[in-house]
Amino acid sequence: MRLLLVEDNSELVALLSKQLPRHNFEVDAVDTAEDADQALASLQYGAVVLDLGLPDRDGLDLLRDLRRRGKSVPVLVLTARDGVSDRVTGLRAGADDYLVKPFAVEELVARLEALQRRPSTLASRSLAVGNVALDIQLRQILVDGTAHDLTARECAVLEMLLREGRSVVPKRKIEDQLFGLSGHLASNAVEVYIHRLRFTLSRAGATVKIKTVHGVGYFVTETK
Ligand code: CA
Repeated sequence: MRLLLVEDNSELVALLSKQLPRHNFEVDAVDTAEDADQALASLQYGAVVLDLGLPDRDGLDLLRDLRRRGKSVPVLVLTARDGVSDRVTGLRAGADDYLVKPFAVEELVARLEALQRRPSTLASRSLAVGNVALDIQLRQILVDGTAHDLTARECAVLEMLLREGRSVVPKRKIEDQLFGLSGHLASNAVEVYIHRLRFTLSRAGATVKIKTVHGVGYFVTETK
């Protein structure tokens, strides 16, 4: 799962960036609310770990804004404040969970895993268009009841396309998603994954096709 860590304490960032990948979390770290906003606008995250004391803005403000804009990504708030009223304020602002510093990495992992099992997250775990349903957790597409496995990257690309409905997903955005905020990617990577997805969809008898808008990006459409 891709996780956005919004934290300005560099020691904690270094620790979590090292520890969380061992528990299958891919971590993108930012240290300001502004960068968090930008990351959330351009990439899809499975969860956000949000420090409340950020240099440019109160984390709670950022959280309220996200929820006002309809972003439903699970948010776990990290804070040094341990007063009951702060916890209540955090949860009212739209946090899904709360962890007071200092904490054990194991506890953070356990809570993040629990967030993934919540019904609100489960609802967004599957996406359906035409006769195709994508199970994000299992990385499978179900076509007329038959399961076909996808790789993690194929799954990520198809998820973006299905989430956009019939809107065009810019190629750049798919590249960013594959790449994360750091990483390496072949220049034709997007074409390669689109090609593989088309092959899998067609072989499975899907009524969904991926169309190319040259020089712009891709979108999914239903064929009758
Ligand atoms: Ca801080």
